[in-house]
Amino acid sequence: MLLTVKDLSVSFGGLQALNLHNFSLAPRELRVIIGPNGAGKSTFMDLLCGRTKADHGTVFFDGKQILGMTEIQIAEMGIGRKFQKPSIFPSLSVYDNMLLATKMKKSVLASLFFKMDSAIDDKIRHTAVRVGLHGVLDKCAGELSHGQKQWLEIAIVVLQDPKLMLIDEPAAGMSDRETEKTGELLLELSTQHGVIVIEHDMHFVKQIAQKTVTVLVNGQQLTEGTFEEVRNDQRVIDSYLGR
Ligand code: ADP
Ligand code: MG
Repeated sequence: MLLTVKDLSVSFGGLQALNLHNFSLAPRELRVIIGPNGAGKSTFMDLLCGRTKADHGTVFFDGKQILGMTEIQIAEMGIGRKFQKPSIFPSLSVYDNMLLATKMKKSVLASLFFKMDSAIDDKIRHTAVRVGLHGVLDKCAGELSHGQKQWLEIAIVVLQDPKLMLIDEPAAGMSDRETEKTGELLLELSTQHGVIVIEHDMHFVKQIAQKTVTVLVNGQQLTEGTFEEVRNDQRVIDSYLGR
């Protein structure tokens, strides 16, 4: 397993935001997490990337216990996170946003002496093709369409060579065509990286759910199964889909 989570919990004040007993992900698996607002989905990603400290639990990633490591250590271990909120630099070009992402991987000292080299240029251009931004590399990131901005955010994660990518609501606010392209991109990424995607749009979930969908409700795993299994599960309908 690439990721094995046991008894992971965190509370904020009196509220237990997450209490997840078992969760595991195989290398190059794409897992979709669904569930109502406030279910603890983003909190789970916050815990995995070290942004939030857990109260209890173990998280083994790539053979190492990562709980307690800093965000930077976890990123260096190979977990990349795309947040719901945008984090690109709007006044820089798409290319420069991607260049910065390759620099972030290196230490501060290394980046001070960083020189543009053709290997990095190749990597940026290759990644731009993968995410469908090769035609807009010179554009200001702020001028991109909403969908293109999301793909740039994904590119920034890809450029850090993660073994696991955490992607929170990638299709929010996208057109149908952009959503479909995003689905194709996530499926392609999962041929090389483990991917966990949080998503609301069940049409989109159907497109990308290859194996297992995990349903979180009130910080707990309600069930896990194929898209068809969870969609027809009465408990899922009652607590999430039927609302
Ligand atoms: P989801 O992503 O499934 O919509 P979240 O993980 O964002 O849900 O939130 C789960 C619960 O934890 C919510 O009730 C939310 O208000 C609460 N919560 C999340 N992050 C924090 C925080 N940093 N401080 C306090 N409460 C939080
Ligand atoms: Mg969320």
